[in-house]
Amino acid sequence: MKNEIRNHEYENRIHRELAKLGIALELIAQKKLPFYLEAQELALGDTDADGREYMMTPATAAAWAGMKAAALQDDVILEVVSAFRSIDRQIEIIQNKLDRRMPIEQILTLSAPPGYSEHHTGCAIDINTPGCIATEEEFENTAAYRWLNEHAGRFGFAMSYPRDNALGFIYEPWHWCFQTQANIEINIPVNIND
Ligand SMILES: [Zn+2]
Repeated sequence: MKNEIRNHEYENRIHRELAKLGIALELIAQKKLPFYLEAQELALGDTDADGREYMMTPATAAAWAGMKAAALQDDVILEVVSAFRSIDRQIEIIQNKLDRRMPIEQILTLSAPPGYSEHHTGCAIDINTPGCIATEEEFENTAAYRWLNEHAGRFGFAMSYPRDNALGFIYEPWHWCFQTQANIEINIPVNIND
């Protein structure tokens, strides 16, 4: 019951934020975007060369460490460029694009609305490798991508946004999500009459 109340408050908050950003719930329902809860428990998953810290759920952090070490055994370097992202951060990302006068339809092919980013779950990771521009399609031409395609499944990771994905997001060969029963179950369908 407590959880239900909390989820209801969370949904109300998301609805208020979407209204402020001018994103219609109908648009989200039309795109059939899955709804995600913000991770409640986070652990330090990685730290990059600049000292920036990346948070993940504890299970994701453990799976990531195992996968990164296995890749290194095959002389493949995997780096995190984005992991857990809060609702507030997602709002900032959308707002920055709106401030640059990008149309909302275009923004939603690049970024999920707050509440609808897989990064909220703490299970999604954007991956890069040295010599490649982060979060660009050219990642698919790297040894890191080929390695992930072959081995990531063994560590519980799957690529979320393949080419021509049904959610209308651009192809994201860099975006991988640790699959758990939990993050499949928290996808609550949007009820636009609510
Ligand atoms: Zn991503």
